Amino acid sequence: MDSKELDKWREAGKIGTEALAYAKSIVKQGMSLLELAEKTEKYIQDRKASFAFPINLSKDEIAAHSTPQQNDEEIAEGLLKMDLGVSLEGYISDLSCTVDLTKEKKYTKLIEASQKALDEAIKLVKPGMEIGKIGKKIQETISSYGFAPVVNLSGHELQQWNLHAGLTIPNFDNNSDVKLKEGMVLAIEPFATTGQGMIQDGKPSGIYKFLEKHSARDPLAKEILAFIEQEYHELPFSSRWIVKKFGTRALFSLRALEQAQALHHFKQLVEKTKAPVSQAEATVLVTKEGCEVLAR
Ligand code: MN
Ligand code: MN
Repeated sequence: MDSKELDKWREAGKIGTEALAYAKSIVKQGMSLLELAEKTEKYIQDRKASFAFPINLSKDEIAAHSTPQQNDEEIAEGLLKMDLGVSLEGYISDLSCTVDLTKEKKYTKLIEASQKALDEAIKLVKPGMEIGKIGKKIQETISSYGFAPVVNLSGHELQQWNLHAGLTIPNFDNNSDVKLKEGMVLAIEPFATTGQGMIQDGKPSGIYKFLEKHSARDPLAKEILAFIEQEYHELPFSSRWIVKKFGTRALFSLRALEQAQALHHFKQLVEKTKAPVSQAEATVLVTKEGCEVLAR
């Protein structure tokens, strides 16, 4: 990686870190999730950056892939995961935190478990480290709190314009001896739950990504697909953004493009036993000696 690229990764990380701190500073029990999403996204745009994906605001048993729709009336409450991604010319930061919006603050330990697992995982990052050992540490840390890690969600490598590139970072001991290499950029994201530690697909999320070109007959669908490809490449986007630009009739086009398999529509990810899930995520760069935390 040359120094110009390194600057971009660092800048994307800095903006991501500040945007998540901003979201944390404004989130309140009972506020509209749509307002929280739009204010945070505006914060990122004001920094002349764009989004690596729509901000995920996932409550309680929903581990990920929940984002407000246009006219959404859901409020911030319970155990809220805020997961955001910044893109600077495709250089990405991906980070998250969990806030406890309950009156009795009943999720303190569950939040601490995923944060501590992330701390411990970061300490292990260096060239030559086996990814199975990182997963083992995450699993042990979360188990020490009496919770379970979500085993079918994992961290991942980041590359320019590629949110889920190459390597995965497991949240349990998968025995993998695949090794980290200097220069890799990684998102590490432990999830802790009081439940079984497996997630399954839930409702459609309104989060999509471009799959392939398609010769749509409908001129609006054609225009929308071209816009998506140019604007987001293969990074996930929200139907809310498309409606903002093209109006509500764009929803029909999105459905048609999904059916034609030009777009992938993500599902919400829900814990199997409907138990609450916490998440902590940071973006790190593997350096010669260890790692540099780019975003947290
Ligand atoms: Mn994330
Ligand atoms: Mn991630």
